[in-house]
Amino acid sequence: MDLLTIIGLLAVLAAAVLLIWMKRYYAVETERLREEVKLFKNTNEYQHESVVVFSENFTLLSANRAARKLLQLEPFTVDMTPEKEIFLQVGHSDQMSLFDIIKKQSATTKGTIRLDKVWMTIGDKKSYINLFIDHSKWNMKNSIVCVFQDESSEAKKEVGSGQSGEIDFLTNLPSQFKANSDINQLVVGAQKDSNQLALLIFGIKDFDKMKATFGLGYTNNLLKKFAEFLNDLDYKDTSSYRLDCDNFLFIIKDIEREEKAVDRALAINKKISIFFKLKNKNMNVSFSTGIVLFPDHGRNASKLIDSAYAALEESKLKTDGQIKIYNKKANHIKKEEKIMIDEMREALESGDFEVYYQPIIDLRSTDIYGAEALVRWNHPILGILTPDKFIGLAELSGLIVDIGEFVLSEVITQQKHWSQSGFNNIEISINISARELLVYQLGDKLEQLFLEHKVDPSFFNLDMSESDAMEDTIKTDYEFSILKKMGVHLSLDHFGVGGSSIEQLQKLPIHTLKVDRSLLKDIDTDPNHQETFKAIVVLAHALGIDVVAEGIERNEQYATLQKLGCDRAQGYIFSRPEPASEFQKLLKKS
Ligand code: C2E
Repeated sequence: MDLLTIIGLLAVLAAAVLLIWMKRYYAVETERLREEVKLFKNTNEYQHESVVVFSENFTLLSANRAARKLLQLEPFTVDMTPEKEIFLQVGHSDQMSLFDIIKKQSATTKGTIRLDKVWMTIGDKKSYINLFIDHSKWNMKNSIVCVFQDESSEAKKEVGSGQSGEIDFLTNLPSQFKANSDINQLVVGAQKDSNQLALLIFGIKDFDKMKATFGLGYTNNLLKKFAEFLNDLDYKDTSSYRLDCDNFLFIIKDIEREEKAVDRALAINKKISIFFKLKNKNMNVSFSTGIVLFPDHGRNASKLIDSAYAALEESKLKTDGQIKIYNKKANHIKKEEKIMIDEMREALESGDFEVYYQPIIDLRSTDIYGAEALVRWNHPILGILTPDKFIGLAELSGLIVDIGEFVLSEVITQQKHWSQSGFNNIEISINISARELLVYQLGDKLEQLFLEHKVDPSFFNLDMSESDAMEDTIKTDYEFSILKKMGVHLSLDHFGVGGSSIEQLQKLPIHTLKVDRSLLKDIDTDPNHQETFKAIVVLAHALGIDVVAEGIERNEQYATLQKLGCDRAQGYIFSRPEPASEFQKLLKKS
């Protein structure tokens, strides 16, 4: 055998060995992957969160055990669309089918979509869920993964119980069931002895955010530590319970006055911050507290607990304090409203508010004089929401101040941009609510913004409704004077329906009266309205005040207003409120 043949044979042998080794390697590797997939499938199968994978056209590709139970799917539903339609209700919106929501959402969002605290209805079963929808690139091609967290069952599990249901398994504190029976017993005793009871519910601030950021392990640990803290308190007249999630109940058995309950809540809150500082320097935890008293706020356990929750919610939402006593007469915020307030807060952070502009026309020159800035909420599911859907709640919760700040800085930036683009002298009107005027120094805030953006204050007009302005005329007069000195223009909005007197009108440093739409509806046909309007114009002009007509929709109204000497008007006849880019097109045309 010559050398070449030997080399050839060796090469063939080496190739054969390599082939055998590769085959073995792939066999082992395939087996390993198969095991991994099996393991993954099994883990997924027994996971308590419901995981469903849909194809692009909503046939079901897979669903784990929890999902089949929650969504009432038969095992054979795979490869077809689920038999029962899945409806979701987010906040105040109407019910929508899950698939419609996914279609709508995927048109605007590419990444994971998260819908918190949503009502889901399938057939006649209703569940309260959190939902994650994912169709990002790294998922299976053209598929949609939905993860449903059943909040109701989670909550039940978390509350959990010992054998009798009276011990909370996580914290070892007495559970809500024990609280219920204890309160009812205490009520009987208190009635007999004519005593008062106080119930304090403590809720951890931003608990859901903590859970989302640090995970369940962290928050469970926190709950255990708080239970430890409650156990260590050495009050003789009290008992503590874990009600649900992050809510703990503290009962004071005999309390003379409600101030004492507040004092106790304050003392506990102080001790809590010391406790958490000592235990763990990184745990910055604070609590909100709702307080109720027996017999004033309820005569049995469930009424007292419900009222205490209502007070707790209020203490979380209001900006002015952490402790709230239940107030029977107060307009308590409902659960759906709370969800909406939370959504609004998130919308502010994620930039989902936008300012629209409606032109105001000079009735003599017929040119665009300026615009009214009107806020819109670009809701991820409900689309564009007008202020009537959210401004009331924004005012109730105090969020109006943050929304107002957003609108102010947005409008000032936009006005500056228009001035620099050659659209000079455009006056923008901004709505201000009484609360904005009361809560913070509007003048200081505006001055700071004007300086920062180097804009002329006289191109801005603040609209305050007549009724808001008349609520506290001394305060309005004081704040308006500061704003006027700064050079900002001021208007009384919805004039004619808020009951201001001529004397007050004379006193307030205003530039413009905006006459309410209701007085102008029939201005072209109703001689009485024409007379009233004429009188308003004469009086306003005599005081050096301009008149703006609101809500003009017809040519006949427009012509009559011109005849009656009105200075400016706005309404659908000229344009509806539009985004800044559309309003700019109108400016270019005019
Ligand atoms: P407003 O100050 O009276 O604003 C005028 C409202 O009338 C706007 O409603 C506008 O879309 C509507 N409108 C305009 N022309 C016509 C018309 O020809 N016909 C009819 N039927 N309606 C017309 P929008 O945008 O829904 O605002 C409602 C109210 O919400 C505003 O009333 C204002 O009081 C409040 N608002 C809007 N933006 C803000 C804001 O940024 N801050 C505060 N505090 N309130 C705001």
